Order: sequence, then C-alpha cells, then structure tokens
Amino acid sequence: MTAPVRTCLGCGATAPQVELVRLRVAEGAMVIVDAKRSGGRGGWLHPAEACLERALKRRAFARAFKRGDLQWDGAALRRGLTAVGGRD
Ligand SMILES: [Zn+2]
Repeated sequence: MTAPVRTCLGCGATAPQVELVRLRVAEGAMVIVDAKRSGGRGGWLHPAEACLERALKRRAFARAFKRGDLQWDGAALRRGLTAVGGRD
C-alpha cells in the first residue's frame, strides 16, 4: 500500500502526507493550521519556516484554495507548524 503523497505549497516538493502539515481556510477567510485534518479543501506544507515563507511569497495559498480574499497570521502559522510538525 502506498501512502498518500501531497505537494508542499512552499518548496513544491512532494512528500508523504504524514510528513506535511495541513492548512485550511477558517471563518473570515483566515488560513489556519488544520491540526485535526478535518476535511474540506486543504493545503499542505512541510513543518519548516522556510517552506511557509516561500508559500507566502509565492501567494501559493490563493492558488491552493482557489480564492483571492485570504488572510493569515504569519506568526500563528509559524507556531502551528512547529506545534504540529516538531516531532523530530
Ligand atoms: Zn516544503
């Protein structure tokens, strides 16, 4: 059985879904870390600040979620990535 593979919105590399952090759009068009992987349209990122920064610069969220009205709190996303992915 092959593990599901997703593309990181930051570096564009593919990785097993378990190695990536899921993002989703919450109320108010706010992009948040979806720690519960609750479904709906998601975006995926490595739990790395470099990938987050690249995703923000490339406006990858707008493409991933197919909407242009998104907002995010960079500091909160950074914290969320570390909390979810910092298992090494
Ligand atoms: Zn990445």
